[in-house]
Amino acid sequence: MKLKFLAAATAGLLVTAAATAAPARPAIPLFDAATITSRCHTELAQARATKKAIEAKKDTAVFADWNRLSIQYADFAYPVYLLQNVATDKATRDAAQACLEKLLPFETEMAQSEPLYQRVRAVKPNDPIDETFKQDLIEKFEDGGAALPPDKRKRAQQITDEIERLGLQYSKNVNEDPTTVILEPAEAAGMPEAWLAARKRDANGNLVLGLDYPTVVPFMQNATSEAARRKVWMAKNREGGEQNLLLLDRALKLRHELALLHGVPDFATYAVKRRMAQTPAAVNEFLGKVQAAVDEVEARELAELRADKAKFTGTDPAMPILHRWDLAFHQERVRRARFQIDQEALRAYFPTDKSILYALKLAEQLYGIKFVERKVPVWHPDVRYLDVFDQPSGPDAKSKTDLPAKGAGNRPGAFIGGIYLDLYPREGKYNHAAAFAVRPGSTLAQRTPISVLVTNFNRKGLDHDELETLLHEFGHVLHGVLSKTRYADQSGTSVKRDFVEAPSQMFEEWARREEALNLFMEICPKCPRLTSAQIKQLDSARKYGQGTRFARQREYAAYDMKLHTGAPPPAMATWAQLEGKTRLGHVEGSLFPASFGHLMGGYAAGYYGYMWSQVLALDMLSAFDGKLMSADVGRRYRQTILAPGGQRPPQVLVEEFLGRKPTSDAFYAEITGRR
Ligand SMILES: [Zn+2]
Repeated sequence: MKLKFLAAATAGLLVTAAATAAPARPAIPLFDAATITSRCHTELAQARATKKAIEAKKDTAVFADWNRLSIQYADFAYPVYLLQNVATDKATRDAAQACLEKLLPFETEMAQSEPLYQRVRAVKPNDPIDETFKQDLIEKFEDGGAALPPDKRKRAQQITDEIERLGLQYSKNVNEDPTTVILEPAEAAGMPEAWLAARKRDANGNLVLGLDYPTVVPFMQNATSEAARRKVWMAKNREGGEQNLLLLDRALKLRHELALLHGVPDFATYAVKRRMAQTPAAVNEFLGKVQAAVDEVEARELAELRADKAKFTGTDPAMPILHRWDLAFHQERVRRARFQIDQEALRAYFPTDKSILYALKLAEQLYGIKFVERKVPVWHPDVRYLDVFDQPSGPDAKSKTDLPAKGAGNRPGAFIGGIYLDLYPREGKYNHAAAFAVRPGSTLAQRTPISVLVTNFNRKGLDHDELETLLHEFGHVLHGVLSKTRYADQSGTSVKRDFVEAPSQMFEEWARREEALNLFMEICPKCPRLTSAQIKQLDSARKYGQGTRFARQREYAAYDMKLHTGAPPPAMATWAQLEGKTRLGHVEGSLFPASFGHLMGGYAAGYYGYMWSQVLALDMLSAFDGKLMSADVGRRYRQTILAPGGQRPPQVLVEEFLGRKPTSDAFYAEITGRR
């Protein structure tokens, strides 16, 4: 999404925590459908009026003007965007979508303003932050069409608006896909009691399965009936439906046209030139290296899984064909047998509420902050809110005191921002895990940030993959809330697309190492305790399947690049063809591109960014030198990487943090299982 979510301070919605006389803090406004619909028009009109006023100015204070305008727009639009994804009633979600369709063109209008473009060009930046901001804005204007002749500019706006509308519809079709799979109880053989107990039943006692993760993932890992797995897999891989293929094809055509308007050969060129990679050739070279590194590992892993299937089904080892719906099941069996790890059993070790506390405590100790839960109005009773404060830096950090910090950065004990946690699945809710930076901070505007964690966790406990997911998304949340940038547009996760995942990917490691997991034992003394040997086993189990996983990631990234290189080919046929060449082949009737939201959201020609970021994530991790709980490195990381957000180029930040140029050694060791 081009929309980067910022959010509103609506004092009227605040309640103050009982014990503290806390000052009013920003909160997310909880608009209902009627409010969204009635305010949509006026908010837009007011933003347009502000834009007009600052276009008429001639001075050089344009950065502050832009910041004000950006914040004004975001304070209404970003909460609406969040509500489109999390509101509990369909009327609000629908009203939010309809309103966003009206609001989104304003982002293009901002980026097409010739008077603002000229004002920005005239600025002589005073420092590196303003220099980067000027560069960012100029690129935004150039990409938005401010430098194009009027007829092309108009067309660029139409294209961008339509792409945004297509994206909204596409994600709605996925979020609200009503598909259910009906299974007779016998078809769910192999499923744990807790999973069975949590599922809906119809009048005949049959299971009614939705397509949410807590339903589908354990099923694919545990259900012994291949036919039943096939049914569920197929339903999940048709999520979004044929309608979304049409939307995707249309978006691809429009993106190509946009690139041509800008005088570049295709959308990949247009998008990648603003990122770390800079050219599609650099991306493709990287993907080629990944492919070469993991190819053999994948082949070996799949051969093992095939052998396991032969053993399980009692067939000739040379005979069984490994299907896509077999993958998770046999991976899980091999993992269990080889490493004695049972993902389902791990939920007892990682109760969901304790896991959340773990993420919070990790952040407190590493980054010198303090979370304080507070009652505020929320969109669903399960949603929690926490204030974030600075804590003492240095060795005091672990002493759980609230003494003021002496270190650099914020004022001692200062209020930094807020986070919301929306953890459990419900109907119509965004159905993956994500962090929404709903309110970007800006020191210039004296604004603190708010981020929202949205997940679909099992209420009882997390398995190890989900613990990693939690820390990953929480890494995005921290990037948002610990950012301290001058301008809202550069806040937190507003960094280059092929860097944005790095802080999150790095934070996953805290789910894997004993020195970090020891803290879990402190938090939950009654939870079953993982031994050192088990933690090592868990990590070996995680690394198992690395070849298959990265081969798949490379496949997605290559597909994304192919769709955006040259004139766009038909999305579905191209996927069928590419996937058809892989070892597991393409399954006729599956529609993966219909729910591959990255293609429609902000990751167009950018999916490679996950792996590109991981190169930097693993390299940055090396600075902790095996001491993951080092508060010194943690605080330095906070100051050098998280706080500056996008106000300096990522390569500069990473080099400053590492004290050397980054290398990809740790990444290749990781993806080939050598780390
Ligand atoms: Zn992420």
